[in-house]
Amino acid sequence: MANKLRVGILGATGTVGQRFVQLLENHSRFEITALAASDRSQGKTYAEACSWKLAGEIPEAVKSIVVSACEPNLDCDLVFSSLPSEMARETEENFAREGYPVISNSSAFRMDEDVPLLIPEINHDHLKLLEVQKQTRNFKEGGLIVTNPNCSTIVVVMALAPLHYRYGLESVVITTLQAISGAGYPGVASLDITDNIYPFIKGEEEKVESETQRIMGQFQNDKVEYAPFPVSAQTIRVNVVDGHTAAIRFKLKSTPSIEEIKETLSNFSSLPQELKLETAPQRPIIVREEQDRPQPKLDRNAGGGMATSVGRIMHDKVLGYRMIALNHNVIRGAAGAAVLNAELMLSQSLLGAQASRLQ
Ligand code: NAP
Repeated sequence: MANKLRVGILGATGTVGQRFVQLLENHSRFEITALAASDRSQGKTYAEACSWKLAGEIPEAVKSIVVSACEPNLDCDLVFSSLPSEMARETEENFAREGYPVISNSSAFRMDEDVPLLIPEINHDHLKLLEVQKQTRNFKEGGLIVTNPNCSTIVVVMALAPLHYRYGLESVVITTLQAISGAGYPGVASLDITDNIYPFIKGEEEKVESETQRIMGQFQNDKVEYAPFPVSAQTIRVNVVDGHTAAIRFKLKSTPSIEEIKETLSNFSSLPQELKLETAPQRPIIVREEQDRPQPKLDRNAGGGMATSVGRIMHDKVLGYRMIALNHNVIRGAAGAAVLNAELMLSQSLLGAQASRLQ
C-alpha cells in the first residue's frame, strides 16, 4: 500500500459517500483509511453505521473501519467530501486549514473566486486558481479546496463545452429531468415522486446557470471571467432512480451542419484521456443515433458511469440546435467526478506535500 495516498471520506455513509467507497475499492493510487459522518454514525464500524444501498456487498477493507467525527485529525493524506452543503463550508475549511487537500462535491465553495470548479476534460487550466488560493487563504502547507460542479451542471457542460470552444455559444436554454438519488437518502418522499413530476429543486436552477458560465469561463489575470452567453435553466425531479437527463436548446455563432456537430462531440477527447487517468472514460461523449436514446435505464452506466451520452441532435426552430444529454448523477455527477479531479491533481503534482510521502 506504500504507493497509495491514504484517503478519508466525509459523509461516507450517504448516497455519494457510498459511491466513493465503491469506486475506490480497487483504485491503484488511493486507499481508504478514514471514514467520517454525523454523530448518528460515529463510533460504529462502517458496516454497522451504513445502510448500504448499492448492488453487491460493502467492500471488506472498509467494513471494520470505525466511523469518525468530521474533524481534521483523520488518518489520511486527503479528503473527499460529500457533506450536506449547510455544514460543508465550515468543516471543509477546517480540514484545508490543517493542511489536508479537500476534493469536494458540495456547493459550499463552488462559486468562491479562488476555488477551482473543475471538470478535468473541460477546464483543467482553472487549477491555476490554486496559486491564488495559496495567497488568499491561510491554509497550512498542502491544504487546498477543489470542487466539482452540481450533478446536472456536469451533463450540460460536457455536452456544450466542445461546441462552445469550436463554434461559440450565443445562448442556451436547458430543462433537466433529474433522478431521485440526486436528493440523497432518503431524499424525496415516495408519495411526492411516484406518479408525479416534481417541478422544484431548491437552488438548482441558479446553480446550473451560474456554474455553467463559470466552468466555460476563461482564466485570465488570476481569475475566471465568466462565459458571456446567457443560460436559462428549469430543473425538474422525475421518477428515475439514477441518471440526470438534460434537454438543451442552443444558439451558436456559426452554422455547422448536424453531422459536424455530431463529429465534434464524438471526437472530443481531452487531458484525462491523454494521461489515461484511471477513472477517465475512453470516450467522454457518446453520440447516440437511435431516435429514442439516450435513456437513463440504458445509458447511465456508459463508460463506467463516467461518459455523457448525447442524442436527438437536430435543428431547432427557435435557437437553431437542440439535443438530449444524460449521465450518471452519482458517478460522473459526484463521486466519480471528484475521484477524476484527484487523479488529475496527482498527475500534475498538485497533491505534492502528500504525494512526497510516496517517493
Ligand atoms: P446524503 O445521502 O443525505 O448523505 C449525507 C452524508 O452526510 C451522510 O454520510 C451523513 O451521515 C453525513 N452528515 C449529515 N449531517 C452531518 C453532520 N451534521 N455532521 C457530519 N456528517 C453529516 O447526501 P448525498 O446525496 O450523499 O449528498 C452529499 C453532498 O453531495 C451534498 O452536498 C450534495 O449536494 C452533494 N451532491 C450530491 C449528488 C447526488 O447525486 N446525490 C450529486 C452531486 C453533489 P449520517 O449517515 O451519519 O447521517
